[in-house]
Amino acid sequence: MAQSKSSGRASPRARVKEEPAEALNPLWPAPPFEVPAVPWLRPAWQRLLGLQQQQRLPHGLLLLGAPGQGVLELARHFADWLLCTQPIHDAGHERACGNCPACHWRLAGSHPDLVVVRPEEGREIGIAEIRALIDTFAITRQGAVRVALIEQAEQLSHSAANSLLKLLEEPPPGSLFLLTATSAERLPATIRSRVQRLVPGIPSDQALHQWLMQQHGLSADDAALLSFLGEPNVLSGQMPEGDWLAVAEGWLTLWQNPAALPSVVQRWQSVPRPVLARWLLRLWIAVAEIRAGLPSPAPATLDRILRPLAAQESALDDQKRYRILIAFAQTATHPLNEELALERLAMDLIRADLPERLD
Ligand SMILES: [Zn+2]
Repeated sequence: MAQSKSSGRASPRARVKEEPAEALNPLWPAPPFEVPAVPWLRPAWQRLLGLQQQQRLPHGLLLLGAPGQGVLELARHFADWLLCTQPIHDAGHERACGNCPACHWRLAGSHPDLVVVRPEEGREIGIAEIRALIDTFAITRQGAVRVALIEQAEQLSHSAANSLLKLLEEPPPGSLFLLTATSAERLPATIRSRVQRLVPGIPSDQALHQWLMQQHGLSADDAALLSFLGEPNVLSGQMPEGDWLAVAEGWLTLWQNPAALPSVVQRWQSVPRPVLARWLLRLWIAVAEIRAGLPSPAPATLDRILRPLAAQESALDDQKRYRILIAFAQTATHPLNEELALERLAMDLIRADLPERLD
């Protein structure tokens, strides 16, 4: 992860992991935190341990949660734990040993009883991936725990989901199908009926601040900002790469002085369009909340920029701006001319500030 470029603050470093071998795992990066020690993941982790110890693990488990809440890391940690032959039972720090033969295979990406299925960026999980899983699990093994980790299961194509369903209906002995998804509703009902759901808690803002400060040594301001922005990798404790402050200031500048449009576009160009779209939407929600008389969700650094916006704009502007920002977000990954796309956005946002009769 790159360091923060222009926020004017030193980017905090993630704590160095104690077991360097984990970093070699080709299947997934070592999480920058200890899963069992994360307060809002701990109850779910204990539930998983309890199911295993009581030998009541179902064949299918669906872990649900928004990206960035640690659900994926929880599933991976549990897969590590199950496959390890000498797991370390240190309360609150339970983990795979990293040294037994099973851990060595896993860390080399060649454990015969671990299959990881995940979609490529922006694509579905196709039937070929599930067929490969079926073939792997068709090989008879004795007494082995087998784990199929299916990440972002909502990306399963229709035919892939049907194939997976057959496996779930007649699971090979000792197998566990560990699915992660953002929302159960986006999975076929037939799959949902074959898996047990587990929904880890969502951290409160305050719990997340505290944790970021303790775990990653962030200042209170940075912790507040990071949890406000709700970046997908918030748990890494890394401040965003782009200049979030310039993005927010650019919006205020546009409103104060539309003639500054070219310089604002230039500033916004420093941030990838999908990130810019996400941040502007987040800021827009905060502006709407402030105007509605709700407590400002933004940290002080941003609040001083958002309050003038909230004081001057009307609820009507909000609705128009929402449509503009959604339209921008929907095309954020399209290969458009960067400068033209941002100029169009800035002009649309300026127009949203005009009274309705001029629109
Ligand atoms: Zn081990």
